[in-house]
Amino acid sequence: MKAKDVVAFAKENDVKFVDLKFIDLPGIWQHTTIPASRLNEDLFEEGIGFDGSSVRGWQPINASDMLMTPDPSTAKLDPFHAQKTLSMICKISDPVTGQPYGRDPRYIAQKAENHLRASGIADTSYFGPEAEFFVFDSVRYESSQRGAFYEIDSDEAVWNSGKAGPNLGHKIRSKEGYFPVAPTDTLGDLRGQMMSTLIETGIAVEVGHHEVASAGQCEIGIKFSTLTSMADNLMWFKYVIKNVGRKNGKSVTFMPKPLFGDNGSGMHCHQSLWKEGKPLFAGDGYAGMSDTGLWYIGGILKHAKALAALTNPTTNSYRRLVPGYEAPVNLAYSSRNRSASIRIPLAPGNSPKGRRIEVRFPDASCNPYLAFAAMMMAGLDGVQNRIDPGDPLDKDIYALSPEELKEVPHMPGSLDEALGALERDHEFLLRGDVFTRDIIKTWLDYKREREVDAVRLRPVPHEFFLY
Ligand code: GLN
Ligand code: MG
Ligand code: MG
Ligand code: MG
Repeated sequence: MKAKDVVAFAKENDVKFVDLKFIDLPGIWQHTTIPASRLNEDLFEEGIGFDGSSVRGWQPINASDMLMTPDPSTAKLDPFHAQKTLSMICKISDPVTGQPYGRDPRYIAQKAENHLRASGIADTSYFGPEAEFFVFDSVRYESSQRGAFYEIDSDEAVWNSGKAGPNLGHKIRSKEGYFPVAPTDTLGDLRGQMMSTLIETGIAVEVGHHEVASAGQCEIGIKFSTLTSMADNLMWFKYVIKNVGRKNGKSVTFMPKPLFGDNGSGMHCHQSLWKEGKPLFAGDGYAGMSDTGLWYIGGILKHAKALAALTNPTTNSYRRLVPGYEAPVNLAYSSRNRSASIRIPLAPGNSPKGRRIEVRFPDASCNPYLAFAAMMMAGLDGVQNRIDPGDPLDKDIYALSPEELKEVPHMPGSLDEALGALERDHEFLLRGDVFTRDIIKTWLDYKREREVDAVRLRPVPHEFFLY
């Protein structure tokens, strides 16, 4: 939709409010709401002002005025308001210079797409993320003054506390969730509601199922799209999933590793490059890949440790990237091997159109705009510099001997390590001014101060057990 179509659409649909959303640095939607009477074509030129200093990682207090201007092409009816509400995603700009704001993650994703086109290598980069999540019955914070302790109630804990009703039978044990029918799977109807709300919101749903972990781990697959548009869809996805959960008295989390000793939640990212309607990854090399596709893999593997700071950007991300839980640890690629960090899935009917790679290390705690843009930039670096990905690793990597394993490079073991890798290796992100030195520095400072140190300096519950 263009600006004038949005205005007309709002009138026709008797919209009461317009919700303006934007993405903060860590990747969480922020919003402000205006009455529909303020919606006119000028709004799309003038935007509305807000205080950028209260947004995490953005402006200092002495330069706090910012402008948000809705992107009419993102208009959708928001399903979670009592009164009819139209929602749009905004671009952020500086009211003084009128320039787009360099720390707006969506702007970075758009620059990445422009950079790809300008490179002449491809005109389109498709992403298909599979964000897994857990559904919990309740989340109870019993926080001491210093926030040192909290507890998440799973089904099991509620039962053991005697607060639940009679035991209605078998509960899915650790790593047995995939994927028996009801009554073992108790979340079919909830996923149904999630899927129909997604479809209502214009997000194409492909499949929904229980995942491997015990307590309500689920996955709902949505259709791939182009880089920025897919990141927009993923924001909608998380919003819908969390809010449908909430309406049903459940708490949904995309946290990568909420439960010790069980599978974590990943966000495998399928990706491919296309030019003039042709898939560039299809060829007659290994697993039906072209040189371009293999070089793209070479770029991702080369920069993976630095990428991790953006694709796995929380301290909790690294509790997932451990052996034994279908999450990758080693930096290798393979067709069909789910312990490799890059898999080349079988394309349906072996069609060249379906030829793509699946990068398995990312998780949904990332900011999708930054994570997709960074992976595309790494892949493009691979293509431009013909980076050889080496030989595929078709064995089960978890079963390699210690000697064999030593030969295979691995993902960083902590957020701190990943941030160090990004600090050393980010020139590939700066090409075409897609990422700026400012955004890299801001990200490193923010993550180190607000997350790495915040977790490192606190005693954790298990230390009380150990000591
Ligand atoms: N949950 C696994 C992960 O962390 C993936 C499981 C799967 O989709 N096969 O990546
Ligand atoms: Mg899947
Ligand atoms: Mg899965
Ligand atoms: Mg997958």
